[in-house]
Amino acid sequence: MIVMKFGGTSTAGCEQINRLVSIVAGRLDQVPIVVVSAMSKVTDTLYKISAAAEAKDLATTLDLVDGLRSRHIQVAEELLGNNAGLLLPATSKINEICDELESFTSAVCALGELSDRSKAVIVSNGELLSSTLVGYAMENIGIKTQWIDAREMMITGDNYLCAEPDLAEINQRVPAVVADALSDHQAIITQGFIGSNKAGIQTVLGRGGSDYSASLIGAAIDAKVIEIWTDVDGVLTADPRRVPGAKPLEKLSFEEAAEMAHFGAKVLHPLTIEPAVKKEIPIYVLNSYKPEAKGTVILKSDLIEDGVKSVSFKENIRVINIFSTKMINATGFLEKVFDIFSKNNVSVDLISTSEANISVTIDAAAKNVDKVVSELSAFAEVEVDDNKAQVSLIGKNLVNMNGIMTGMFESLASTKLYMVSQGASNINVSVVVDKEALDASINKIHKSIFES
Ligand code: ADP
Ligand code: ASP
Ligand code: MG
Repeated sequence: MIVMKFGGTSTAGCEQINRLVSIVAGRLDQVPIVVVSAMSKVTDTLYKISAAAEAKDLATTLDLVDGLRSRHIQVAEELLGNNAGLLLPATSKINEICDELESFTSAVCALGELSDRSKAVIVSNGELLSSTLVGYAMENIGIKTQWIDAREMMITGDNYLCAEPDLAEINQRVPAVVADALSDHQAIITQGFIGSNKAGIQTVLGRGGSDYSASLIGAAIDAKVIEIWTDVDGVLTADPRRVPGAKPLEKLSFEEAAEMAHFGAKVLHPLTIEPAVKKEIPIYVLNSYKPEAKGTVILKSDLIEDGVKSVSFKENIRVINIFSTKMINATGFLEKVFDIFSKNNVSVDLISTSEANISVTIDAAAKNVDKVVSELSAFAEVEVDDNKAQVSLIGKNLVNMNGIMTGMFESLASTKLYMVSQGASNINVSVVVDKEALDASINKIHKSIFES
């Protein structure tokens, strides 16, 4: 069995879905479990619908729901126009999902109140709609397909919008549901991103979470491989939208891929690697617009050469500078500082220390930062800086790559560096620069390392 996950750009319309189903058709001998994201931009629209409903803006709410309905019905007609036997049930399912969404959001409009629990119900509809289209499109080219509601098997905790998977439940339910479905079908179609708690209440895994769903399903069934199909030729040496010279990587290690995702490379959800790594299941990142391209394979570290793999960056960060003369020659100071971060659930990315100063970077979206700052201010001077960005060089055994490090720092000779940090695991060297210096920095480093 293999897991094939297709992102929003690969389900975006009739042409893309036709390409998707022909890729799946070419893998039937490997028994594919297809996991799809919502069509491109649909989840964004669902978040807008949630906001409009909460603001009691009924006209906008209904208008947006209507737009989603027509887009999906139109794609169904384009995909299945030649087969009334499939078009009819497909459109009636789409209408059923949209009718429910309409009445649910109208009720939210009337109340003007939206809990996370209700928001999860709204934003999960994109995957229900896209998987309906893809399931019927697979049937239409003759693939005997079972549609599975992911909420039956992707069991999570109660954090409705960023739910933590319940591995014990998932590992028990997924193999049973999958085996049952495959007893009389050639392939499965299911949704990424969505799940439910043990009581059957809707949850979602957080933005970009379909990659994570695919990996969790793959690990639960001991899949031979997990394929992540997207709109670029694999994992690239940098974000192609910011670094025009970015090139596809043939392979990288689970650790490097996890570090890249964590340090800003948006191609994979940061938690995707974790379930696969335990079972050593290779992850392929492939281009659904160019299925013949080789893509990138993510493997265990022994099979990967030393060297730099990527220049990643994070723009939405905050730097917290903590000054205190009490730190000089004092033991227990660092513990006191990091205890405050950990108590408030704020996770720290980079750390630099000097005799009387600690600087850390955190994600700009982190909650409770005000609390952290106020608790730190009890014994130190604290400054929060939102105008910086983080640039990371990621690879294997970077400590052996002196030439590369020189290249990185030479490229940044005229750039102000506010923090420099080398992870103890030798996998990451990061610097903090001014936001306006970010583009030039990543392009210069990339040129010196990958384009010479
Ligand atoms: P999907 O809808 O398939 O999940 P995403 O938009 O989540 O797609 O991720 C794919 C996008 O990630 C690419 O289009 C690319 O612009 C961006 N990206 C950022 N960094 C990288 C990188 N290092 N390698 C490949 N793609 C990257
Ligand atoms: N559709 C969801 C999102 O846009 C999940 C995903 O695409 O992975 O965040
Ligand atoms: Mg994605």
